[in-house]
Amino acid sequence: MNTNQELILTGDRTTGQLHLGHYVGSLRSRVELQETYKTYILLADVQALTTHYDQPELIANSVHQVTLDYLAVGIDPNKTTLFIQSMIPEIAELTVIFSMFVTVNTLRHNPTIKTEARDRGYTDLYYGFLGYPVSQAADIAFCKATLVPAGEDQIPHVETARKLVRRFNELYAPVFPEPRILTGERLGGLDGIGKMSKSMGNAISLNATPDDVKAKLTKAKTDPARIHRSDPGHPDICPVYAYHQLFRSIYADDIHASCSQGKIGCTDCKQLAGGAINELLEPFRERRNYYEQRENEVKEMLIEGTRQARNTAKETMLEVREAMGIRYFDV
Ligand code: ATP
Ligand code: MG
Repeated sequence: MNTNQELILTGDRTTGQLHLGHYVGSLRSRVELQETYKTYILLADVQALTTHYDQPELIANSVHQVTLDYLAVGIDPNKTTLFIQSMIPEIAELTVIFSMFVTVNTLRHNPTIKTEARDRGYTDLYYGFLGYPVSQAADIAFCKATLVPAGEDQIPHVETARKLVRRFNELYAPVFPEPRILTGERLGGLDGIGKMSKSMGNAISLNATPDDVKAKLTKAKTDPARIHRSDPGHPDICPVYAYHQLFRSIYADDIHASCSQGKIGCTDCKQLAGGAINELLEPFRERRNYYEQRENEVKEMLIEGTRQARNTAKETMLEVREAMGIRYFDV
């Protein structure tokens, strides 16, 4: 890995507030990576439309909330370029060009698309939803990103992005680097079914209050086979144990042993996990509060980041047109 020249691009759909899954899956590594590498983070409001096109207000409000989430966890706008996807029309242009190099069947067989479609109960797929990995490839390529810190559900999408830029480079000229994914941990949801997800109502938000955290954990599913406190538990299939592993890792082995031997009850175990989560979230709450009082500063920062991203995008699209021989004239 040529570590000196990494360029980072990642982002989140603006469909609601970010949660602990985002933190362990990607925010945590973004905060570290911004110290060393040029980093772009996009607020993916167009991608949010692929499932939430009937809720534009939610999307716009989430742009604000997700920005606060970023600042709260320690994304530093002086180090990271934060921008809004829909304000960069060149990304949409590049999406159209990339869409020439991918077949519908390839998209339909993408395992993440399949899972998401099933979870959302889609029987037929909207063109925009089916094609969102193509739009994601354009997000990655417009700034010539080399590394994408994201959750493991994104592996097939980054693979698609690699294929698309490779095809473009072969056909026309070597404009784009091939991006790689940097995966973080995957966090399961409170319902014990799928991954923690904004849209599934199974998440602990990064701005949850201490009481929210406790209340959410109280309702969390645990090992279904455990009925009495003294029954031996199966921590490896318990969502709460996964939280111990991630947020209270030094004591995870102890919890594993006590649960397996029926020596600790689920209520106590949840309380310990909740305490650790609250400890993690406390500095985020403070920083969020700071930025909540400075709405104009936050807006200016987004305007500046979007302006920078747009300039980069315009330059890349000129190269794309040159490479394809379709830079007829400048307008
Ligand atoms: P939605 O339900 O609207 O799709 P989401 O919770 O899945 O929201 P996204 O915005 O789709 O969140 O995902 C943004 C990034 O966060 C991706 O890199 C994704 O892999 C990562 N991510 C989301 N949920 C988790 C999770 N539970 N564990 C680890 N990473 C996650
Ligand atoms: Mg998602």
